[in-house]
Amino acid sequence: MMTIAAATAMALFRLHKGDRAGINRKPDMESVCLICGSAHVAPDSGNPRKLVCRNCGFAFFRYACPACAQVVDSRDPSNPLCPACRGRKCACGGCDCNTL
Ligand SMILES: [Zn+2]
Ligand SMILES: [Zn+2]
Ligand SMILES: [Zn+2]
Repeated sequence: MMTIAAATAMALFRLHKGDRAGINRKPDMESVCLICGSAHVAPDSGNPRKLVCRNCGFAFFRYACPACAQVVDSRDPSNPLCPACRGRKCACGGCDCNTL
């Protein structure tokens, strides 16, 4: 988990709040809450895939695709929900029920 400056987080928040496609490819976005713009995002203690904003409480999922290891981010529209496993689908088509 990297730490980024509040000003950097706010700039990324403004850039991506309305346009979330591709945030899974931006490493800094793991530390930015897209609800409030805070950089106080930390891993959830019970779920290694889950990240929680310590400022507003918003939780999201960000983890490596089980098939190809690219980053999957639940906030990114290019990673839609898989109705079968409730995980996110990677651009490669992989998810928890289809690890290719
Ligand atoms: Zn937040
Ligand atoms: Zn993948
Ligand atoms: Zn699935």
